[in-house]
Amino acid sequence: MLAHADSLESVDSQAYDVAIVGGGIIGLSTAMQLLESTPGLSVAVIEKEERLAQHQTGHNSGVIHSGIYYRPGSWKSRFCVGGKDRLVAFCDENEIEYDECGKVIVASDESELGRLQDLYERGVANGVPDLEMVGPERLAEIEPHTAGVRALWAPHTGIVDYVRVANAYAGKFQSAGGDIFTGAAVTQVRRTNTGTALETGRGALQARHIINCGGLYADRLARMMGEATDVRIIPFRGEYYKLVPGSHHLVKGLIYPVPDPRFPFLGVHYTRNIHGYVEAGPNAVLAWAREGYRKSDVNWGETAGALAFPGFWKMTARHWRTGMQELRRSYRKPVFVNDLRKLIPEISSADLEPGGSGVRAQAVSSSGAILDDFHILRGQQALHVLNAPSPGATSSLAIGEYLSGLAMQDFGLAVK
Ligand SMILES: Cc1cc2nc3c(=O)[nH]c(=O)nc-3n(C[C@H](O)[C@H](O)[C@H](O)COP(=O)(O)OP(=O)(O)OC[C@H]3O[C@@H](n4cnc5c(N)ncnc54)[C@H](O)[C@@H]3O)c2cc1C
Repeated sequence: MLAHADSLESVDSQAYDVAIVGGGIIGLSTAMQLLESTPGLSVAVIEKEERLAQHQTGHNSGVIHSGIYYRPGSWKSRFCVGGKDRLVAFCDENEIEYDECGKVIVASDESELGRLQDLYERGVANGVPDLEMVGPERLAEIEPHTAGVRALWAPHTGIVDYVRVANAYAGKFQSAGGDIFTGAAVTQVRRTNTGTALETGRGALQARHIINCGGLYADRLARMMGEATDVRIIPFRGEYYKLVPGSHHLVKGLIYPVPDPRFPFLGVHYTRNIHGYVEAGPNAVLAWAREGYRKSDVNWGETAGALAFPGFWKMTARHWRTGMQELRRSYRKPVFVNDLRKLIPEISSADLEPGGSGVRAQAVSSSGAILDDFHILRGQQALHVLNAPSPGATSSLAIGEYLSGLAMQDFGLAVK
């Protein structure tokens, strides 16, 4: 087991140079690269769950995005395109299985052709290699069961198991002398003369500097640390169906619709998983708990917090129509199936069985804007990752490198 379970009381007196809160893929990548760039630094990762990578990292689609969708010049385009190549190289070096199975983004009718062309141009501007616009005949060769008037073919988009990747980062971090504490939820933060004392369910830990990679709770942790931010994380659940084994042949790789540009999510799609099964989804519905993986999960305190946030109401006023459509799709399987049928006309309800779900930590500003790009706050002896949506897993090495560089600069860290 990678994470060790020493009691934090035993390290109460030790002050770490840096404590990273959150053992998801971004916290672990940052931890690994911080020790690579600054050997001798004392670094701890503090994770509330008993195992690493149990939230967004362990509940995503497993896609290695190639960088098509993102506005040129944005953090997403920069981190995804560079991060993808590094991730693939990391998987090669560490014998982690992945598959560059390729992806098609499919225009179902003429009305989507303009947006598909925009995506092609974005991808080219972002430096995504070998993109190709294809007609129905070529589409039929790539994905024989998919229908569309035109498609964008991205041959290097791939799939991987991100929990394996995150655990590999953790292993390297520990081999370089880093400490990981699991089952240690940070519940309180106190400023001290020398830095910060983090109270956890398993004792206190002192650190001179903090990097907050708390995912669904990153905004709360930032506020706990005294940062002023107008951003709040609103959880959006993504629900999946799975194709029954007899229907796996309908999907060879990754099949996506042309997304709605007003919304940061990619639309329900088909994803072949590295473990051999095929998922359909995810949708995007408001969750009533930050870790609300089931429709019935409600956390009244968190819900009250979201309802008291002005940005929530402004966002709802702007997007209520889409929200209602998503709810219908969530509760009515035929609606979900109808959307999936636009991509594969022969899909029926019988091809689909319930799958899992994931919850996206989506940052929303007090003006109601859904933050599209990655958002990092440089705080008081601390860095806070306040928005790391998809393609955060693909970009994890690039984000971790950037964060460890910022930490060296802002915290004045030097090689010992
Ligand atoms: C449904 C879905 C599909 C996605 N699909 C893709 C995809 O195909 N490709 C892609 O590149 N990206 C995808 N993403 C995005 C990607 O999963 C995230 O960008 C990435 O996992 C974020 O990593 P993280 O480390 O920031 O967050 P997380 O993995 O959520 O990790 C945060 C950690 O912080 C811990 N934590 C929180 N509070 C505390 C506390 N108080 N004390 C201690 N620890 C705490 C949590 O337990 C958790 O382990 C998807 C996301 C979702 C939800």
